[in-house]
Amino acid sequence: MHYLIIGNGGAGLRAARTIRKRDREGAITIVDEEPHPCYYRMRLPDYISGWRERDTVFVVEEDFYAENGIEFRRNTRVTAVRPDEHEVLLDAGGTISYDRLLIAAGARPRELSCRGSGFDGVVYLRTLDQAEDIIRRGKAAQNAVALGGGLLGVEMARAFNELGLNTHYLIREDRFWPQMLDASGSALVEKVLEEKGIMLHKEEGIDEIEGEGGRVAAVTTTAGKRYDADIVGIAIGVVSNLEFLEGSGLETGRGILVDEHLRASRPDIYADGDIAQALDVASGEYRLVTSWLNTQRQGQIAGVNMSGGDEILEGVVPFNVIVIYGLSVASLGLDIPPEEEGYEALTGDYPKDGRYRKFVLKDGVLVGGTLIGDIGEAQAIESLIKMQADVSDYRDRLFEPGFDAKRLLEEVKGAG
Ligand SMILES: Cc1cc2nc3c(=O)[nH]c(=O)nc-3n(C[C@H](O)[C@H](O)[C@H](O)COP(=O)(O)OP(=O)(O)OC[C@H]3O[C@@H](n4cnc5c(N)ncnc54)[C@H](O)[C@@H]3O)c2cc1C
Repeated sequence: MHYLIIGNGGAGLRAARTIRKRDREGAITIVDEEPHPCYYRMRLPDYISGWRERDTVFVVEEDFYAENGIEFRRNTRVTAVRPDEHEVLLDAGGTISYDRLLIAAGARPRELSCRGSGFDGVVYLRTLDQAEDIIRRGKAAQNAVALGGGLLGVEMARAFNELGLNTHYLIREDRFWPQMLDASGSALVEKVLEEKGIMLHKEEGIDEIEGEGGRVAAVTTTAGKRYDADIVGIAIGVVSNLEFLEGSGLETGRGILVDEHLRASRPDIYADGDIAQALDVASGEYRLVTSWLNTQRQGQIAGVNMSGGDEILEGVVPFNVIVIYGLSVASLGLDIPPEEEGYEALTGDYPKDGRYRKFVLKDGVLVGGTLIGDIGEAQAIESLIKMQADVSDYRDRLFEPGFDAKRLLEEVKGAG
């Protein structure tokens, strides 16, 4: 049996490890266009900031692959997948054939298109090489602009700030992390950023990037302001790396469409991680979930199923955690209730003492939540959301001091 994995990120590696545990004999090949052993992308901002050493960025060491009988073909790009022939084409010429194929090719940053967006000094952060490029540029720079109200935008702004750059941080929306936080939650995050000296500008995007000699010099904004900049960091979302699948006949949407076994629409092909748009059995919808936790869950399931097992993906609850200068933020499920009958958002007496807690209910059933400052209960709350727990009888308890979501979970299970 030959297992071929495209992508050496968290999703590809986790699947490879799972397969190797279950099948000691099968041949495993991982192909990746990057040169490095698998690393944690989420540790890159701390590495840029000088908060962690380079070697702590890696998930595995160089010799991991050989030790586990995995062939790692680095610096190799797959240019096409041919399901009928059970083979993939490589950029350097040649093919690799497979019995089972996993596509774990992830996503890349969405590019900004405005005048000047092609100048040298406009940067994105996805790879270790890009992180090291930012470190190099940071040494010679004084002024930075970061754009993007999501998780990565704030990380970019923090990294620039920690490099000692004069940092303007632009958010096009009226608050930070707009799909997830309401104004009260955002205010806690904004306070932390401003205390650290980051100049936050809400409802302000980039109109044009000015350059000198092909290099970034300044940014003019949609609010008509102008900020000097030697480096401009863009974090306005990600797009799945689907282009090389053209002509493969695989069904795609925003990602590769896969069922609850993570099987794609052609035989012997699976997908997981950021590139997989997986069937959420609870809602019947296909969802893209771009988080590390998701790569680990899906990597496990893909690995089991590819090696002859049978595991299915449970209902998908979006679950994101970020720590911003020591302030933890967890967002679960639906954070902002739609303006429809039956939905309500409960915040008790929060925000208080720099902490925030919000629960979103639909007809009494917990469908989402936001925790800021103290996120110890996040996993138990995720379980409550997954089991579609009716928490109507427990409303007040959700905000009591010493609230114990695990105990509540047991009680709800018992009552059910
Ligand atoms: C700066 C940063 C901070 C983050 N912070 C957090 C966080 O705090 N919490 C969280 O949950 N998530 C975070 N994330 C998101 C998380 O890192 C991703 O969800 C996760 O890494 C996705 O893993 P993946 O294996 O699906 O894809 P990737 O890690 O993108 O791996 C895909 C691999 O496929 C390779 N590839 C693509 N196309 C081809 C091809 N045609 N041929 C060969 N190889 C190919 C790529 O080189 C890449 O190595 C962060 C991401 C970034 C960039």
